[in-house]
Amino acid sequence: MKKLLIDLNKEELEALVIKANEKRFRADQLFHWTRLGARFEEMTNLPKSFVSFLMDGYFDIAASIKEHYKSEDGTIKFLLELTDGSLIESVLMSYSYGYTLCVSSQVGCRMGCKFCASGLDGLCRNLSAGEMLSEVIAANRFIKENLISEGKVGNVVIMGSGEPLDNYDNVVKFIKMLSSDLQIGQRSVSLSTCGLCDKIKMLPDSGISATLCISLHSPFDEVRKTIMPVANAYAVESIMEAAKYYFTKTGRRIIIEYAMMKGVNTSKKDVERLKELTNGFACHINLIPLNDTGASLKGVNKKEAYSFLNLVKQAGLSATVRRSLGQDIAGACGQLKRRYNDENK
Ligand code: SF4
Repeated sequence: MKKLLIDLNKEELEALVIKANEKRFRADQLFHWTRLGARFEEMTNLPKSFVSFLMDGYFDIAASIKEHYKSEDGTIKFLLELTDGSLIESVLMSYSYGYTLCVSSQVGCRMGCKFCASGLDGLCRNLSAGEMLSEVIAANRFIKENLISEGKVGNVVIMGSGEPLDNYDNVVKFIKMLSSDLQIGQRSVSLSTCGLCDKIKMLPDSGISATLCISLHSPFDEVRKTIMPVANAYAVESIMEAAKYYFTKTGRRIIIEYAMMKGVNTSKKDVERLKELTNGFACHINLIPLNDTGASLKGVNKKEAYSFLNLVKQAGLSATVRRSLGQDIAGACGQLKRRYNDENK
């Protein structure tokens, strides 16, 4: 079975070059081309015989853009096709400080959060580190070829479809490749998890110090269990203990993701419990107006969102209401996969 060239790091490319009886510097050329997302026919400085050796055993491109949808606010959602025909999505957001790409870490997701469209069909498979890197490379290429503005992806958020810590080894490798291969350092990377405590605690020892975002959405186990099945395995207190451990080890402020849902999680009682739980570590609460995912849960209106923000701030917690980008193209949080599913019913 053919493998992905992009899954190979520099040392592995060197080993491949030696196996093909080529000179060592060919590994640098191959590294350069693969990180630009080049097709075999574009690798013009490689000998033809070497290219045909590569074509026999490897794919040049791991993820290619099949469609793209542009939002009125400039956000672009990509539908990407993998070499086995699987489809994933990524979302490119443009900010004053540059481009941020939201990447998927799995095809589907098995966590089944009620407010999220990504897990509707369950988990299909994990993405390899190279496939995740290819999402960034494909976006860089798209920016270069289609957008007038200069630049490339400078920030990566692992918040697309999939639970990143359910694909632990590949995600850790991906974060390291972002830094070594594309010069996107860990300070520019955010990883969002629904709270797999044991894996959160493993991250610092794996050399990860990216921004950790916890999808909490309620400070109460009973409520969480009704919207996030994973809450049956991990209690809120254990998640907060893991977050505190991550903060202690890395010194990085924790982000609490909190989708505001009508009648579910925006009372004074919620604020009091949030305050108790986040005592002892630096954190910021990202209040997210729940996006329409077609699920029965409803979001709050703007006025309700800002009055909850006031309650949170009055309790002395750091918080902001997150601007939601790409809603008209179903590229906002929790919406990935929805449009494609709707269109293919
Ligand atoms: S919110 Fe994240 S963890 Fe939950 S189902 Fe969606 S992709 Fe999976």
